[in-house]
Amino acid sequence: MKKQHVLGIDIGGTGIKAAVVDIRQGTLLESPVYVATPQPSNPQAILTAIRKIIDDLGWEDGVGCGFPGIIVNGRVYLVNNLGSEWEGVDFKQEWKRYITNEVSMVNDADAAALAEMHLGAGRRFNKTGGGVVITLTLGTGIGSGIFVDGYLMPNTELGLLEFEGNMAEKTVATVVKEREDLSWQGWSSRLNRYLHALETYFSPNLFIIGGGISESSEKFFPLLTLKTEIRAAQLGNQAGIIGAAFHYSIQVDPKFG
Ligand code: BGC
Repeated sequence: MKKQHVLGIDIGGTGIKAAVVDIRQGTLLESPVYVATPQPSNPQAILTAIRKIIDDLGWEDGVGCGFPGIIVNGRVYLVNNLGSEWEGVDFKQEWKRYITNEVSMVNDADAAALAEMHLGAGRRFNKTGGGVVITLTLGTGIGSGIFVDGYLMPNTELGLLEFEGNMAEKTVATVVKEREDLSWQGWSSRLNRYLHALETYFSPNLFIIGGGISESSEKFFPLLTLKTEIRAAQLGNQAGIIGAAFHYSIQVDPKFG
């Protein structure tokens, strides 16, 4: 029997969010649980926090985890906004030391892109001939998920590109707007220049902007001067949770479809 409900977890540099997701509808069964990311954010602390969330929910079934770093074959290769102890960790093996639920893991922005392409703002482009869709999640860092003709190219890390002498996410992420107390105008002009660079490199058919700030898209979309169509993530800040759960269905429960 296919699983209809999967617990989606979005591990971030600032918070960990979790909710049971109805995979077919792409909706959350209840409001997400939110806990602040423990500091230091090493594997032991994060997995202990996740175990507590799972125990509190009484969840005994599958879990899809979105993780803010490069994940290849379940191994963590690069993390910027969590403890460096994560580098090289086999996520699944480490998970089993703390948690008995079956798990899948995916980069957090790839998860958000997956959700948006299947259930949200990218649906129209999720097909052969759909072209290039770049989903960016703006938050503590900048994550990216690129789809080409309906296929995900994983771990693209466009937030780590060098941009005006710095790593892009160090000048354009939402936290930078808050930290430097930038006006919408000031921050959007940075975002605009960054998106123009991506436009030149990738000639996308669509940009999807996710992360909490996507809920205020009316404040900064009019300030952008792109050729490319741009849309706010339709699943908003929940795209990461939904996409992580969705990824579990594809990876661990392939009868889904
Ligand atoms: C990480 C990405 C992640 C993004 C958003 C970046 O610092 O390198 O893997 O997707 O933050 O969390």
